[in-house]
Amino acid sequence: MAASLQGTTILVVEDNPLNMKLIRALLSLHSCTLLEEKNAESGIKTAVQSLPNLILMDLHLPAMDGLAATAILKDNPVTRHIPIIAVTSRAMEGDGVLALDAGCDAYITKPINTRTFVQSIAQFLPGKTL
Ligand code: MN
Repeated sequence: MAASLQGTTILVVEDNPLNMKLIRALLSLHSCTLLEEKNAESGIKTAVQSLPNLILMDLHLPAMDGLAATAILKDNPVTRHIPIIAVTSRAMEGDGVLALDAGCDAYITKPINTRTFVQSIAQFLPGKTL
C-alpha cells in the first residue's frame, strides 16, 4: 500500500525556496496540510500554535539553526511528542549525529530522494499505512 499522509499536518521549516518548492510538490498529492516557515523562530511559534503531526526541520537556517530549534521543541512538554525529521546536506560531516543528539527522531539528507521521501516521513506518523 502506498504511504498515506492523508489528514495530517506537516510543518516544514526550510529557508531555501527551491527545497521548499520540492517538498511542497512531493507532498501535494497526499492530502496533507502543509505549514511553511523560513526560520527557526517562526517555526517554533507555528509548532506550538498548530501542533503539527510531524516537523521537517532544515538544520541550516538563518539566525537560530535547526538543532537549537529542535532542542527547544523537545524541551517543551507541549511539542516534545511531535516527530522531528532533520533535513541536512552535511550528513558526512556529522550533522546526522548532531541531529539525533539534539532530539530529532531521524534525519534525511539533501538532495532529497524523491522516490523515498514520502515513505521516509510517513513511518513517523502513527497509524499511517505504508
Ligand atoms: Mn537551509
